This record gives sequence, C-alpha cells and structure tokens, in this order.
Amino acid sequence: MDVFSRKEFGYPFKLDLKLIQGYGGPSPIVRGAVVMDLHKLNKIIEVNEKYAYALVEPGVSFFQLYEYIKERKLNVWISAPALGWGSIIGNSLDRGWGYTPNGDNCSHICGMEVVLADGTIFRTGMGQLEQAKCWQLFKNGYGPGFDGLFNQSNFGIVVKMVYTISVNF
Ligand SMILES: Cc1cc2nc3c(=O)[nH]c(=O)nc-3n(C[C@H](O)[C@H](O)[C@H](O)COP(=O)(O)OP(=O)(O)OC[C@H]3O[C@@H](n4cnc5c(N)ncnc54)[C@H](O)[C@@H]3O)c2cc1C
Repeated sequence: MDVFSRKEFGYPFKLDLKLIQGYGGPSPIVRGAVVMDLHKLNKIIEVNEKYAYALVEPGVSFFQLYEYIKERKLNVWISAPALGWGSIIGNSLDRGWGYTPNGDNCSHICGMEVVLADGTIFRTGMGQLEQAKCWQLFKNGYGPGFDGLFNQSNFGIVVKMVYTISVNF
C-alpha cells in the first residue's frame, strides 16, 4: 500500500481522527498528531477528454493538471482556485471553489479511494463494485453514499479521486 501499512505503523496503532473545521491546513492542532505528507503521490492516472474527468492522486496540484491538459492540447478545462499550487484532492475535500461557473470543486468529486484508520481501503460510488467500469462516470453508485463523510472530516486518507472537469465547448 502506498500511504501506510500496518507493519510500518506497528499496528495496533490508534489513529485519533479529529474533525477539521473547513479550509484547514497541514499544521497539527493537537499534540501527538501524525502528519502525512502526500505530495509525492502525484500521479495523474488518467485524464479522459471524451467523458471529461481526471483520476488523480493527492499530490496532484491544479497547476500540474492544467499543464498536463495544455501539453496534450486536450479539449477540457479545470476550475482552479487562487491556490493553484494546492492539491486538487485537498481543496475538493475542503469544499473549495475555483474561479469559473463550475467552481464548486466538492461537487466535482465522482468517487474516491480512501484508506481508513484501520488500514481498510474503501472506494465510494461505483468503485465499490469490483467489476464496475463506470466509477469515473456515475458518482452515486448503489445504496447509501459515503462521499460526504470525507469532506472536512479527516475520517480517512483519500489516495485517489475522480475529479470531473469541463468540456471546452
Ligand atoms: C493564498 C491562498 C489562497 C487561497 N485561495 C482559495 C481559493 O481561491 N478558493 C478556495 O476554495 N480556497 C482557497 N484557499 C484555501 C485553500 O484552497 C484550501 O485550504 C485548500 O484545501 C488547501 O489545499 P492544500 O493542498 O494546501 O491542502 P492542505 O492544507 O494540505 O489540506 C487541507 C485539509 O484537507 C485535508 N486533506 C488534504 N488532503 C487530504 C487527503 N488526501 N485525504 C484526506 N484529507 C486530506 C487536510 O487534513 C487538511 O485539513 C486559499 C488558501 C491560500 C493560503
């Protein structure tokens, strides 16, 4: 596993997950907090021009995705906040806004892969079904939805996110 393993952390290890209050930051607010620097998990796994989505890791910044799209002349565009060097996943989880009419980044989350405190890896949306081919397309999945649990919460570490982008008409 990329983020942490039970062995590495010497489980049983109690992860005390504190609620964040929105527009958080990387500085710990309580003693004994574990700070995880995810900036090296910076793969843009896929950008799909036809269906307008990007599958990214937590270290991918808005600038990085913008450059990726520009270099390949893809006919899509993203809605970057002022903090263009910030993480797409961090800002979207934090309910951030970019500067276009499609700026509500949180509503662009179309599925996540999350590592929970006990090491369980969990996917939201259609990603819950192993054979689903439309994780990146249909955010609701089946049954109860869990995406909102990870907004401004620190209830899990999001290691992949499907981020809907806009087609450039
Ligand atoms: C100069 C400046 C300009 C800004 N302009 C804007 C703006 O225009 N629009 C806007 O919306 N916001 C803006 N903000 C706020 C900023 O975008 C948010 O605070 C944003 O979430 C910070 O991104 P980050 O990559 O630094 O994330 P971090 O500060 O590292 O993380 C933000 C929070 O999300 C959590 N988090 C991050 N990654 C993960 C993950 N993978 N899994 C689980 N939790 C995670 C962290 O624990 C933290 O609480 C601005 C901030 C600054 C300093």
